[in-house]
Amino acid sequence: MIADILVAGLGPAGRALAHRATVAGLSVVAIDKNPKRAWTATYGAWLDELPPWLPGATIAARAPQPVAWGHRRHTIDRTYVVLDTPALQRHLSLGNATVVQGSIEQLDPGGTRLASGEHLRARLVVDARGIPRSPRSAEQTAYGVLVPAATARILLDGASALFMDWRAPRRSGGVTPSFLYAVPVGGGRWLLEETCLAGRPALGIGELRQRLHDRLAGRGIDLDGTEPTETVRFPLRPPRGFVPAGVLGFGARGGLGHPATGYSVAASMRAADAVAAAVLQRSDPARALHSWRSRAVSALRAKGLASLLALPPSEVAGFFDVFFELPPAQQRAYLSGREDLAGLTAAMTALFARVPSSTRARLARSVLTG
Ligand SMILES: Cc1cc2nc3c(=O)[nH]c(=O)nc-3n(C[C@H](O)[C@H](O)[C@H](O)COP(=O)(O)OP(=O)(O)OC[C@H]3O[C@@H](n4cnc5c(N)ncnc54)[C@H](O)[C@@H]3O)c2cc1C
Repeated sequence: MIADILVAGLGPAGRALAHRATVAGLSVVAIDKNPKRAWTATYGAWLDELPPWLPGATIAARAPQPVAWGHRRHTIDRTYVVLDTPALQRHLSLGNATVVQGSIEQLDPGGTRLASGEHLRARLVVDARGIPRSPRSAEQTAYGVLVPAATARILLDGASALFMDWRAPRRSGGVTPSFLYAVPVGGGRWLLEETCLAGRPALGIGELRQRLHDRLAGRGIDLDGTEPTETVRFPLRPPRGFVPAGVLGFGARGGLGHPATGYSVAASMRAADAVAAAVLQRSDPARALHSWRSRAVSALRAKGLASLLALPPSEVAGFFDVFFELPPAQQRAYLSGREDLAGLTAAMTALFARVPSSTRARLARSVLTG
């Protein structure tokens, strides 16, 4: 039998698509090297980015109006959430899909060949295998520790969470900047994560660990080394032409990740129903997924990534001061949503007009040459 959809890769994107396709009544074959791998990453998102079908029980913690710091403090008028990763994985159940454990050797519009020699076929083949690392790709890196709420509170100055704190930790001047991300993760615990938003190469984990320790020590917090930790390293954009012709790219591999923030989990979950509906209606799933608007938004955001990479360390905090002073709708257009071309253009134009002239010149150069 030929399945309606074959989903290659069961990370958050592939699993969300496979799950929603079965909910829509489609027959699904889903393949992963290790389909039973328990996810451990801490996934955050803006509440308004999540798809309406995702139950509240998959949210571990909410932070209304989190704070961002450049040189100044900014309150963001949105609710940020941290997902309950095991609950999310459980909710995206694959009970009605045929799940195959195997390593995909070849993927084409007709189906796939696994390393075991097995062939699987489907009407629509989806490539959700994520993005492998490459020295040519900009990456995001981070190092975090889980601490009790009382410890985190020392850093928060009353904030519900710190989405980004670009104030420099001690001893990190003059090199690639990093910021502190401090969010509740449920159960009275907080994640404090020193993050390199984008770098080619990105800051190493050892450097980030040192900066986090320095930053916390500067606020009187000494870690004893027994705290659970999280390390983050992932490429921000797939190389061009990465998905085989005639196959639908989905998730990070399909360009659903935000090139300048690395966020993809909410956008992928939100896009799953459009693909399932297109298969059900026998319309073009690629069209359902990528309108001309979303392609333009993605191209502009890629310019945003080039601009970020071009900024000297001394200008980064000031850049984010200007960003977080934009009207909330423009911030949202830049950070979230894949279709709001008018909002994104307005945000980028306003940003360009308001940054200091030295930053403006650099941004212009990176946009023209990037
Ligand atoms: C610690 C950490 C924290 C993060 N925090 C956030 C966050 O707060 N918010 C956010 O949006 N993003 C976050 N990210 C980024 C996010 O994890 C990725 O963008 C996301 O996982 C991409 O999902 P995906 O399903 O597209 O790909 P992946 O998660 O990379 O999944 C790809 C799947 O394909 C399988 N696969 C690959 N090749 C083959 C093959 N040849 N054969 C069979 N199977 C294969 C893999 O086993 C894997 O299961 C974080 C990442 C890390 C590491």
